[in-house]
Amino acid sequence: MGNFKMLIDRYGRSIEYLRISLIDKCDLRCSYCIPKGFKEFERPANWLSFDEIVRVVAAFARMGTSRFRLTGGEPLLRKDLPELVARLSALEGVEDLSMSTNGTQLEKYAQPLRDAGLHRLNVSLDSLRRECVQEISGSDSLPKVMAGLEAARQAGFNKIKINMVPLPGVNMPDIEDMVAFCIQNQFVLRLIEVMPMGVTGQKQDYVDLQNTIEQLKDKFNLQESSRVFGGGPARYWETPNSDFTLGFITPRSQHFCETCNRVRLAVDGTLYLCLGQDHQLNLKPYLSDNCTDEELDNAILKAIDLKPERHEFNASPEKIIRLMSMTGG
Ligand code: SAM
Repeated sequence: MGNFKMLIDRYGRSIEYLRISLIDKCDLRCSYCIPKGFKEFERPANWLSFDEIVRVVAAFARMGTSRFRLTGGEPLLRKDLPELVARLSALEGVEDLSMSTNGTQLEKYAQPLRDAGLHRLNVSLDSLRRECVQEISGSDSLPKVMAGLEAARQAGFNKIKINMVPLPGVNMPDIEDMVAFCIQNQFVLRLIEVMPMGVTGQKQDYVDLQNTIEQLKDKFNLQESSRVFGGGPARYWETPNSDFTLGFITPRSQHFCETCNRVRLAVDGTLYLCLGQDHQLNLKPYLSDNCTDEELDNAILKAIDLKPERHEFNASPEKIIRLMSMTGG
């Protein structure tokens, strides 16, 4: 145990969470994420292979990281995903393996993913109105997402999290319906402020969710929760009787950088240390057969040391030209 390495950054934050982008492509074009007509996706030849991803996850796990989330782009577009999930969930130290998806293909994959050992699911859904979903995502995807959610429930996923990005003049009036829907279905709802990432995120006005908290608190009798769900930055509110949980992710109106416990692996092997900064280290060169596990571990430690103190989404909203889908949201 004398050699045990821990991933603690220079600000004393322990890195407990790795998000892994499996692909930067998506079948949707949400207005705040990938621009319409965008074509500059990473070439498949440059994607990390399953072997390389397993190697990175094993390295993080042996240095104390226990939570891992598969994301993208849209992770369900990556071929043979259940095979990767089975390999990752079997690794020592992987205590929590989850996935973020837009849900359009969940009807087909929920059961195989559950069987392969996926623990938890987050599904992105910005409205319950079909035309509104179409307006935001550029696709008539609501029926497929609903079928996906039902399949996920039947496959045994519980406490599914629904991620909603409120947009002024678009889906703000839908928030209360979404709360009611999540209460009814025992989903956890999380409202996320738009981050100024890439041209799409930067041209989008964001909603200060502090006002929304006040409104929903009174209407649904919510009380601030001290419980931690999923180890993330969301602050949670709960109803006393209905077992409903509502999370707020507020990088604009109230940042949470001092408790940031995560880093992100892009599909080409670049490790990004902060969503809102450019600090990065490419792990790909350390994943060749010529590199020992010790060299890989040391590269990861070096990267963690680069993690910046905080993002500057408010002070410099034009700074990050990377799309959320490139970093792995
Ligand atoms: N395709 C998967 C999904 O839909 O969950 C995973 C990747 S997606 C980039 C992850 C999350 O990032 C989604 O909930 C999406 O709404 C959110 N997102 C994308 N761009 C964003 C932005 N500029 N600001 C805030 N959230 C964003």
